[in-house]
This record gives sequence, structure tokens and C-alpha cells, in this order.
Amino acid sequence: MSRILDGTAVSRQIKSEIAARAANLKRRGIQPGLAAVLVGDNPASAVYVKNKVQTCAELGIYSRRLDFPVAISTAELLDQIRILNHDDGIDGILVQLPLPSQIETRLILDAVDPQKDVDGFHPENVGRLCANLPGLRPCTPAGIMELLKRERIEVRGKEAVVIGRSDIVGKPLALLLLHESATVTICHSKTVDLPGVCRRADLLCAAMGRPGFVTPDFVKSGAVLVDVGINRISDELQAEKFFAGSARMDNFRARGSVLIGDVHPQCYAVVSAYTPVPGGVGPLTIAMLMANTVQAAMLRRGWF
Ligand code: NAD
Repeated sequence: MSRILDGTAVSRQIKSEIAARAANLKRRGIQPGLAAVLVGDNPASAVYVKNKVQTCAELGIYSRRLDFPVAISTAELLDQIRILNHDDGIDGILVQLPLPSQIETRLILDAVDPQKDVDGFHPENVGRLCANLPGLRPCTPAGIMELLKRERIEVRGKEAVVIGRSDIVGKPLALLLLHESATVTICHSKTVDLPGVCRRADLLCAAMGRPGFVTPDFVKSGAVLVDVGINRISDELQAEKFFAGSARMDNFRARGSVLIGDVHPQCYAVVSAYTPVPGGVGPLTIAMLMANTVQAAMLRRGWF
């Protein structure tokens, strides 16, 4: 029988700890503050930002949402980032991605003060992660590590395979696992014999953005499976392929779409533990953003 790694429960735990830390800081006259920068009217981005702002309010973190028109130029957005860098009420700056195509995203991310870089995307924080020095870590990989730790999943000495080499998830996750003494392999779209490489894994992490791509032939019996993918499918035949006969199909019919990770649900029977989608890695990302904001508030004051 495989164990479900309940990201919702763990994120609740983390958030209550963060609320307590924020309350402690408040007693010292400090309220951590997060600025959420949203450009344009991408509905998914708007939902993400709304959730982040709402979570700040729940935890006693100050937040400010800044909305900019879709046609804003790189130079104008850079000016706004510089203003936030110098704003003493703001400890964390979050730039919601993706930005419109005319914006040079790299320039914007590089302009964020590394001490306020709560997404951990600035090259200084990437370097700190690489060298295993203290710094702000990208939220999704940090959340996965926190989940593994709290669920007492041993990483040290284990074969870990990460599918996906993005700067946001795959690469930083591989580095964090390496720093915890896993033997790490990173796979990507050019990897030869992907199922064969994945079958070596004691810990298999899928972060590719391909619905249900990881099938049981990728998985060693008894492995731990971390599914980072979040894919929405609205095609009934595709939904049937993954969820025929399960309650998720009723869900699909009621809503016209359903979420699936990068892992085919058939894998759940083969593994010892897995993160479900939804309710696995997703909720941890936002919890770690809150944790990073409080950490940034302390870092900036030299309290770490
Ligand atoms: P990305 O598109 O930047 O990177 C995908 C990676 O997967 C690439 O490195 C690519 O080489 C690899 N890949 C793609 N197809 C492959 C294939 N057929 N075989 C092997 N490798 C393949 O995506 P990302 O930003 O890293 O996100 C990955 C997934 O994680 C997406 O579904 C995204 O929605 C999800 N995500 C979830 C959270 C969360 O909070 N749970 C956060 C960030 C991203």
C-alpha cells in the first residue's frame, strides 16, 4: 500500500509556523512585506497573485499588489523594480511570470535586489544555492525538500532522478538533493532511454509539464515519487485515458476540465509513497514563498 505525501497538510503546518514568526517580528515592530508585480491580464497569473496576496493576509504579512499594463516597456518595469528595491516596507519582491514577450525577463529578474529576491531567481542566489551558502531558494524545490524532511523520506545516499532541467524547478531541485547527499541524475528532453534511467531511482521527481507522461515502466517498485507537474486537461478522451472509472472523471464532467501531474495515476500502485496532483507539491510553493518573505525580512536586518 503506497503512502500519500500530503502537501496540503504540510503546507498548513509550515504556514502556521510562519504566522507565529511573523507575529514575533511584529512584537519587535516589524511586519514582513511582499510586493507582487503583475503585468497584463493573464487570468492564471491573476489567480496565482490573488492567492499569494490572500495567504499573506492570513499569515500577518503585509502585501502590495502592483498591476501594470500589458504594453509596459522593460525600462519602465525596471524603474518600478528599483523603486521597490528601495522601499523599506517591502522585504520580498515577486515578479509573476510569464512576462509579456516585449519584456526582457532576465533583465527584470536580475534587477531585483538579491536580498528581496523571494523567488530565488537572481544570479547571486543561484550562485549561493550552487555553493550551498545561505540564501533565498526557489520556492517549489525548497517546498519539496521540506515535504521530504517532514515526511521523513531519507534522501542521503539514495539514487535521485529529476526529470526536467528548468531554472525554476529541475536544476535547483537537483542541487538541493545533491546538498542532502543524494546521488543525482538530471534528465531532459534529449535523455536517451528515459524510462531506463528513471527505473534506477529510489526518488523520482517529475517536473516536465507533460500530462501523465511517467508510466509504470519508468518506476522502480517501492520508489518515492514526487510529481511537480500541473497540467489542466479539457479533452474528455484524454481524461478517460488517465481517470476512467475513478471519481476524477465525475469531476471532469462537472467542470469540463481536470488537473493531472506528469505522472500517470497507474504508477501509484507501484511506489511506496507519492505526491498527488492536486494537493502535493502545489500548496508547498506558496508556503515557501511566505517563508522566504519572513526570511528576507530577517536577512535584510542582519538577523540571520
Ligand atoms: P519547463 O517547461 O521550463 O521545463 C520542462 C523541462 O522538462 C525541460 O527541462 C525539458 O527538457 C523537460 N522535458 C520536457 N519534455 C520532456 C520529455 N519528453 N522527456 C524528458 N524531459 C522533458 O517547465 P517548469 O517550469 O520546470 O515546470 C514543469 C512542470 O511543473 C509544469 O507542469 C509546471 O506547471 C509545474 N510547476 C509546478 C509548480 C508547483 O507549484 N507545483 C511550480 C512550478 C512549475
